[in-house]
Amino acid sequence: MARIVIIGGGPAGYEAALVAAQLDAEVTVVEAEGAGGACVLSDCVPSKTFIAATEAVTALRAGESLGVRLGSNAPAAEPGLNALAAGPGLNALAAGPGAAAPPAGLDAATVYARVKRLALAQSADIAGKLEGAGVELIRGRARLGTHPQGHMHPVLIEPMDGVPYEVQATHVLIATGATPRVLPGSESDGERVLTWRQVFDLSDLPPRLIVVGSGVTGAEFASAYLAAGVDVTLVSSRERVMPTEDPDAAGVIERVFRGRGMTVLGRSRAASVVSTGDGVLVTLADGRTVEGSHALMAVGSVPNTADLGLAEYGVQVAPSGHVTVDRVSRTNIPGIYAAGDCTGVLALASVAAMQGRIAMWHGLGEAVSPLWLQTVSANAFTDPELASVGVSQSDVDSGRVPGRAVMLPLHGNARAKMSDIADGFVKLFCRSGSGTVIGGVVVAPKASELILPIALAVENHLSVSQLAHTITIYPSLSGSVAEAARQLMHPEFE
Ligand SMILES: Cc1cc2nc3c(=O)[nH]c(=O)nc-3n(C[C@H](O)[C@H](O)[C@H](O)COP(=O)(O)OP(=O)(O)OC[C@H]3O[C@@H](n4cnc5c(N)ncnc54)[C@H](O)[C@@H]3O)c2cc1C
Repeated sequence: MARIVIIGGGPAGYEAALVAAQLDAEVTVVEAEGAGGACVLSDCVPSKTFIAATEAVTALRAGESLGVRLGSNAPAAEPGLNALAAGPGLNALAAGPGAAAPPAGLDAATVYARVKRLALAQSADIAGKLEGAGVELIRGRARLGTHPQGHMHPVLIEPMDGVPYEVQATHVLIATGATPRVLPGSESDGERVLTWRQVFDLSDLPPRLIVVGSGVTGAEFASAYLAAGVDVTLVSSRERVMPTEDPDAAGVIERVFRGRGMTVLGRSRAASVVSTGDGVLVTLADGRTVEGSHALMAVGSVPNTADLGLAEYGVQVAPSGHVTVDRVSRTNIPGIYAAGDCTGVLALASVAAMQGRIAMWHGLGEAVSPLWLQTVSANAFTDPELASVGVSQSDVDSGRVPGRAVMLPLHGNARAKMSDIADGFVKLFCRSGSGTVIGGVVVAPKASELILPIALAVENHLSVSQLAHTITIYPSLSGSVAEAARQLMHPEFE
């Protein structure tokens, strides 16, 4: 019988465990923090739960331009118009008769408590699922041992409340994730200088927040706190925010940020970030300084691979610290697999989970397709959201992929006009000649949902003609996807 030990219980680890259990292996997951890992307890789930609250505030504010009035100031007597009552967690929206309603806002304590509650509940759900599948879940730490016995791999397990012991495994999966990167001299103190794992421990919203780092994580937090009414400065070392995303899309997001009052400091590398006691001082590489009440450090992650005994065991690790794996999650040592953020393949929960499943399918002798990243959809949960799939604009511009593109701004879309959505677009790429859909970018509210038809087209090699002939809902934002496909069918684009 296969004996599997999985180190790390995030999406890579727990999804792998479920597959291995389904294939009748004896499975142990060792997890330091709790089932679901950092994804559920401190990264993806908490940030998206917070963003859900800030989206609600944005929606309330956006209602104003549509003629929605809130609280007792709303003409409740008018038939057909319900006054929106302030619910728990939102600041009271009602004002005295005749007075202007105060702007919508967040009650940080309530929102942060909900964020933590939801993360713990999600973790408990995952623990229940694992235990229900017959997986042994141990709270503690693990590392590779030192004395392989034949084809068995020793793993040293240190339970949180118990005595360390060693088990022999036929297969080991390293799924230990990553940790926020620290700029030397700018260490977080949990009070003024914070990582994204500490922001929800504050008792209130930071009044003047400096977000250091404008990758997807920095941009998401900057966007959410801006929506929450916080004075936000985004310090970006690069020319524009989210430098690895589609340039047109990042340009729209940055314009929206600035238009809503965010200070975006481009080409501004932070040299140091220090607490001044009642605030923070960020010194930029060119000597300029920026002051705020708090700083949120979002300067990337480092893989959790230092204390796993990998080098001693002969497992190949890149200079960045990432475990080197192939497309079926194998390391250079037979029987030792790695998946998720510790591999540096693509830091997404969806990819981590698939790498973990692939490892188990491969290890346990099932037919398996190697990981294929070309059809992975990714989304920045900014407002508006930025979703993408497939080839990029630079792939097409550089001729690496022979393709054509069309970009339709949303302001021409009927549904967008009705909802007063002014910013955003749908961009579609197809292969020159065949017209096969090879990628797309959507900037829109809920772009994470709108990207699916494009992802389906890319995955299934649909042509722009097939996409264009799909009848879409009228009026709908997805109508722009079909419209973009129609434009790519037009001879002038050949
Ligand atoms: C702020 C933020 C928001 C994000 N939002 C999204 C999103 O919206 N969508 C998305 O797809 N991705 C998102 N991501 C990325 C996503 O969280 C990661 O890609 C995902 O968590 C990777 O899963 P994993 O299983 O590799 O690692 P993790 O989720 O990091 O889990 C690894 C676990 O291993 C444990 N561990 C480490 N060493 C040991 C040891 N020696 N013994 C036992 N346990 C150990 C760690 O404590 C950790 O809990 C976000 C990331 C961040 C930082």
